[in-house]
Amino acid sequence: MTSAQPVRVRIAPSPTGYLHVGTARTAIYNYLFARRRDGTFVLRIEDTDRDRSQSEFVQVILDGLRWLGIEWDEGPIHQADRFELYGPHIQTLLEKGRAYRCYCTPADLDAERLAARAAKADWQYSRRCRHLSRAESAHREADGQPFSVRLAVPETGETCFRDLVAGTLRRHNSDIEDFVIARSDGRALYNFAVVVDDHLMQISHVIRGNDHITNTYKQVLIYAALGWDSPAFAHVPLILRPDKSKVSKRKGDASVTDYRDRGYLPEALLNYLCLLGWSPGDDREIFTRDELIEAFDVRRVAGANPIFDPAKLEWMNGDYIRRLPTGELARRVEPFVLSANLTTAADLETRRDWFCGVVGLLQERCKTLAEFPVLARYFFVAPDTYDSRGVTKHFRRPGAVERLRELAGAWDALTDFRADLLEETTQGLAEAAGAKTAAYIHPARLALTGTTTGPGLYELAAALDRAPCVARLRRAAEAIEADRIPATLETSKEKKP
Ligand code: GLU
Repeated sequence: MTSAQPVRVRIAPSPTGYLHVGTARTAIYNYLFARRRDGTFVLRIEDTDRDRSQSEFVQVILDGLRWLGIEWDEGPIHQADRFELYGPHIQTLLEKGRAYRCYCTPADLDAERLAARAAKADWQYSRRCRHLSRAESAHREADGQPFSVRLAVPETGETCFRDLVAGTLRRHNSDIEDFVIARSDGRALYNFAVVVDDHLMQISHVIRGNDHITNTYKQVLIYAALGWDSPAFAHVPLILRPDKSKVSKRKGDASVTDYRDRGYLPEALLNYLCLLGWSPGDDREIFTRDELIEAFDVRRVAGANPIFDPAKLEWMNGDYIRRLPTGELARRVEPFVLSANLTTAADLETRRDWFCGVVGLLQERCKTLAEFPVLARYFFVAPDTYDSRGVTKHFRRPGAVERLRELAGAWDALTDFRADLLEETTQGLAEAAGAKTAAYIHPARLALTGTTTGPGLYELAAALDRAPCVARLRRAAEAIEADRIPATLETSKEKKP
């Protein structure tokens, strides 16, 4: 690639599975790189492997990228539509003697492999057909013998390229076999198709996972054989799980769309993935998209494998949730509230201001959108059980029944059911009884919400409104009195506010 060449990058996912976080991070790096340099970001779907590619996976890849806000400028281009483009270039290599027809049958290759194994040696194709005379090769072709096409890899020297992340990488050509570039049915194989596509699409920088480095040596050889310049390469280390194994859907690791469904914000996931193995060189952690575009430099991607830390992602998501304007957060949690069947869309529409108020009360405590309906449940339905530890501490206490009833009466008598008035009244009751306000607050919270944690009691009571509050206080008093308290088995982990 020359410095005057416009920046064109691509992401080339194979639709053989869901969009996992590694591919998403590579897409993010390509996207940021393109935006930073006024370049073009191409989406190419590498669906040449017909047995493993599925259109359903193409859809989840596109959905995942769109959800993350990774917009591509060209594509999706399907490699499967481009088969006829590769043949002429294979022909060119055959004519130039940079590739040759290999007539070895699978049985011949198996025999070589077995012989190598018996000799405890690594197997590499013997290059037997490389040394066939032109006449012999032409004769076999005319005879209709099936053949694959192999690249004639130089037998000496080394293949080397400069990598923007890893530095100069080199490999002895003697370690690279004459690999197949086209199958006997004439179809180009993966490494060849990638080179032709990247060349024809004028890709200037190939930014991809470092699991492709072995492919890159082969691709560099193909570029050289075709007389084309290679693009610049940047191989980014793969993301590992905390146990240092590879992140994989099969091991139950979440895909990008799983994170969406679990209530992660796309901007938080994007920010987190971007920082996984890249840092701007200072200690900033939270970036807007524009700041990422401004700061991102692929040369600052670390050489070591980053470890995916779900707790850190959750923390970052909570941070993003707290920063959202409450109205916007209400819009985002709405589908989660609806799918938890807490209420209907029409109800939320008519009570929009009320709903935003509830969202505001829980905004500080919510780390994912999916957590919201769990935390907000009592705003929609009366608790059917009470936290068991809370029951012991706050319900099974002398005076609890009386206090709950007193509170129900006093709150019911308020002209205006406002948080400040609720507070004033409650404090008044406590003073008159010579008790601490907490002796009223804790049982009341448990009666209203079923839990011992949550936003401020008076604010949540005001949001609940008079009738539900009074009914819940009285119902709890009755249950305690009758000694029939439906308690949970769980205990709350959170500290009280
Ligand atoms: N199709 C390859 C993959 O999904 C990417 C190849 C490339 O980026 O060159 O891993």
